[in-house]
Amino acid sequence: SVPLSFFGGIGAASKQGILVKGSNYLESLNKVNTIAFDKTGTLTKGQFSVTSVNPKSISKDELLEIAAAIESNSNHPIAQSIVTAFGKEIKSSVSDYKEKAGYGVSATIDGQSVIAGNFKTMKANGIDVVESDGVGTIVYISRNNEYLGNIVIADSPKSDSKAAIASLRKRGIKTVMLTGDNKAIGEDIALKLGLDKVYTDLLPEDKVDIVNDLMSETDNKVAFVGDGINDTPVLTQADLGIAMGGLGSDAAVDASDMVIMSDEPSKIAKAMDIAKKTREIVV
Ligand code: ADP
Ligand code: MG
Repeated sequence: SVPLSFFGGIGAASKQGILVKGSNYLESLNKVNTIAFDKTGTLTKGQFSVTSVNPKSISKDELLEIAAAIESNSNHPIAQSIVTAFGKEIKSSVSDYKEKAGYGVSATIDGQSVIAGNFKTMKANGIDVVESDGVGTIVYISRNNEYLGNIVIADSPKSDSKAAIASLRKRGIKTVMLTGDNKAIGEDIALKLGLDKVYTDLLPEDKVDIVNDLMSETDNKVAFVGDGINDTPVLTQADLGIAMGGLGSDAAVDASDMVIMSDEPSKIAKAMDIAKKTREIVV
């Protein structure tokens, strides 16, 4: 049979739907002892659905319509779920649309200034609002600096995420999750999947800082796995950047060293097996 050289390793990986951009990355994978995962779209499906609409003084439909008008400009999975839940044609005129990674979105809608995003966004804009304890990712909405209410949405883990984490732990890999989402959601998912540690409420630059900290711990080689929505800086920074290719963005594919075409986290352990075999044959 054909020896599994470094090139063979890349070929074997590609047969599994794992794109490796160079043989040196298989060797890096052999040295990785910590894997940091993004949450949304990486360990979870990134398919959100609205579970409750909670207006303060307007009707539910009005709140949903305002949120849908602004979110129809965003390609974040959160945004798409709100547009789907509204389910009607958006008639409002939207201008000055802005998206701030890790926070949310803002725009002028029918001449009024609207913001939709997490609690941090509301605080940053000086909106008077009490943090909700709803279970889910909570999108707060304000208009002309007045709090209008919130929309709760839920996402669920990918079917193979738990097994993927278990198989990495069996290999002695430390697994952590880095998320821009809130503490309740982050800890719930981390517990369900059996991750060693979770960091929540992070901005994209915080993810870079944490990966740097993990890398500076003695002998730590750190891989980051993400879908590229808000996490290309950390994909570039990690010792090894692994992108989810199916749903992931082109930017993620560009910023990464390896791409999991099928979006299945369990492919990471597969890639490790291939990398290990490749080394055994070369050495
Ligand atoms: P994760 O780290 O879990 O993949 P992101 O970094 O993509 O999450 O987003 C972090 C948080 O920023 C989200 O949980 C949400 O609260 C807020 N956010 C991002 N984009 C939007 C949006 N289009 N509308 C509302 N909130 C958003
Ligand atoms: Mg994400």
